[in-house]
Amino acid sequence: MSGQCELCREDGGETVYRNDKLRVVLVDDANYPGFCRVIWNAHVSEMTDLPPADRSLLMRTVCQVESALREVLQPEKINLASLGNMVPHLHWHLIPRFRDDAHFPNPIWAQPARQTAADVLAARRALLPALRAAIARHAACED
Ligand SMILES: [Zn+2]
Repeated sequence: MSGQCELCREDGGETVYRNDKLRVVLVDDANYPGFCRVIWNAHVSEMTDLPPADRSLLMRTVCQVESALREVLQPEKINLASLGNMVPHLHWHLIPRFRDDAHFPNPIWAQPARQTAADVLAARRALLPALRAAIARHAACED
């Protein structure tokens, strides 16, 4: 079962933070610089498969990454999503959203509404080193 799961086999992106329970990865998506996932390391499919302390740990990390995204990218909105219909291995998507992004105000999984200007995307990509540092700093924090 877990041998066929891509999030058991692979990191699922560029790992920017990892501990024994979970990892934070940056997703390589040209339209969404800063798109992160918080992925539980063990193969479980639902939040309620975790004991309460682990649920809290996972949500605390989601909030830490959200704080880092807000601080560095200053998006219009953060989208949080846990779907897992395609890959039923517990993970949260954190997507910084902007009025000029490819799908705003719809979910990023909808039909594209526009093409974001290349220079705007380049400016957002230029913030990724600062985002990596902010995620590491927030994740090291106990609250
Ligand atoms: Zn898995």
